[in-house]
Amino acid sequence: MATPLTLDQLNLASLDEAAALLDGLYEHSPWIARAALAKRPFVSLAQLKHAMVLEVANGGRDAQLALLRAHPELAGKAMVDKSLTAESTNEQNKAGLTHCTPAEFEKIQQLNAQYNARFGFPFILAVRGPRGTGLLKAEIIATLERRVQGHPEFELAECLRNVHRIAEIRLNDKFGYTPTQGHQVWDWQEALAQHTDPGYAELGQLTVTYLTDAHRACARQIQADMLAAGCESAVIDAVGNVVGRYESDSWSRSNHGLQAPKDSKTLLTGSHYDTVRNGGKYDGRLGIYVPLACVQALKAQSKRLPYALEVVGFAEEEGQRYKATFLGSGALTGDFDPAWLDQTDADGITMRDAMIHAGLDVNAIPAIRRDPAEYQGFVEVHIEQGPVLNALDIPLGVVTSINASVRYVGEVIGMASHAGTTPMGQRRDAAAAVAELVLLVEHLATQDGDSVGTVGQLQVPNGSINVIPGRCQFSMDLRAPSDAQRDALEEKVLAGLRLICERRGLHHSLTRTMQASAAPSAPAWQQRWEQAVAALGVPLHRMPSGAGHDAMKLHTILPQAMLFVRGLNSGISHNPLESSTSDDMQLAVDAFSHLLHQLAQEHGTP
Ligand SMILES: [Zn+2]
Repeated sequence: MATPLTLDQLNLASLDEAAALLDGLYEHSPWIARAALAKRPFVSLAQLKHAMVLEVANGGRDAQLALLRAHPELAGKAMVDKSLTAESTNEQNKAGLTHCTPAEFEKIQQLNAQYNARFGFPFILAVRGPRGTGLLKAEIIATLERRVQGHPEFELAECLRNVHRIAEIRLNDKFGYTPTQGHQVWDWQEALAQHTDPGYAELGQLTVTYLTDAHRACARQIQADMLAAGCESAVIDAVGNVVGRYESDSWSRSNHGLQAPKDSKTLLTGSHYDTVRNGGKYDGRLGIYVPLACVQALKAQSKRLPYALEVVGFAEEEGQRYKATFLGSGALTGDFDPAWLDQTDADGITMRDAMIHAGLDVNAIPAIRRDPAEYQGFVEVHIEQGPVLNALDIPLGVVTSINASVRYVGEVIGMASHAGTTPMGQRRDAAAAVAELVLLVEHLATQDGDSVGTVGQLQVPNGSINVIPGRCQFSMDLRAPSDAQRDALEEKVLAGLRLICERRGLHHSLTRTMQASAAPSAPAWQQRWEQAVAALGVPLHRMPSGAGHDAMKLHTILPQAMLFVRGLNSGISHNPLESSTSDDMQLAVDAFSHLLHQLAQEHGTP
């Protein structure tokens, strides 16, 4: 194997030499690396990767199509007659595609032909996968089967993203770079995902709801991982949160009988380990294991921070088994409602009984409330759970605010009458009114820029094909980065609904079922994330969080800010297709580590 390249070498070489060094990153398309080299010097591989992403994005559609068409088919003719590039041969070999059974080979050929006929370019998939170790043939076939149904515009973008992922892995190989901590975080999550609730295990699905056997096995696993990574303590608290602590420099000194300066306040971090039904492996868990990778590195270097780091695996965030979302983080803020203990799950088991069965001390819950005076703040790393970073091809995002939201259920009431005999001008159509509302919500939320509005449920009770809808029930979910913006949107939507009903001679009822305040990031903490991301050479992208997170709860007692990590497959989440690469996880670890050291400097420790 050739000696690995270094960034210095690349930065100092002449353009021709540098272009030669990057030869083969993009299939038969050396122009991409060559154009990106104009942006030298690069401080990191991540920066170089993004420069190449930009060249392709700005190259125009013809150049993009040419790039895609320069790729061989997976398990295609070029593989069979051995005319693939060395890089492609290596990748297809690693994914086992060079050893397909005749049936697999035929299936792939058939899908390839279908794909190419539909989109006009070959199906492209980074077959070394998100961990770099190679996808299974079954995974490749399943992806091909799914994507052949995709939208042409989406597939063009998705193929380009895969091309960039292929280039990323090739670049890593050239530079002898391994995202070791990213792999570790990946592997921890993979191991944790072995625990799943009964009934789901058989289906190969991941479901971990509050205090089931699988949930408790996860807690024990996280506890063991925390201790193995180097935490001095890792305890399961009264609601099932797993709390690991990596103690401070002064703790360590006084523990060794040395004189120690006064301890600084603790930094709190973490996320949840419960999942939705048939969920993903990274939602929540990434925010436990990224900090843990930092603890592991500190411990390995015998390094201490001038403050303690407390990593919490929150027991419950998703509200699946009981209607008590954010139970884990809520308990830390003193927001645990004792009435929840009497709630029952689908099998009639009360939360109290589930907790006693799990060996938890219900009476100790008030005591786990944190005193804000002892903490500096709360930071949370989370997979984005949306398509924004994936579409921009940017690995990390800095959260500006967790959106405020409000939810309604409502009903419009008109008059059910004969579809054949009632003239158009004499109808009281409830569903047509709600249809107007759907479009109004869409229009107003779009106009607003960064708000979102959704009518997710629509129903005509006892509707018939030949009856004008007399009633129409609906739900409505509005979210915006600030309370004021949400209130303004809400006001416009409600006024619009009144007008629609007036004009159509209908009446309506509305019930507000939920309202949550925005949790804007604390500016100083958001800035620390921004500096960390910038230091990695990764483009800075600020964004609101459309989903709720544990940070929302901690927001009520501490300054907080979140970091998002790009998800694959359009950032899909609450779905088994949720994924992220170990390269991106490594960047999250690097950013977290940067934030820890930055804080240490602020505390006066170099
Ligand atoms: Zn989550």
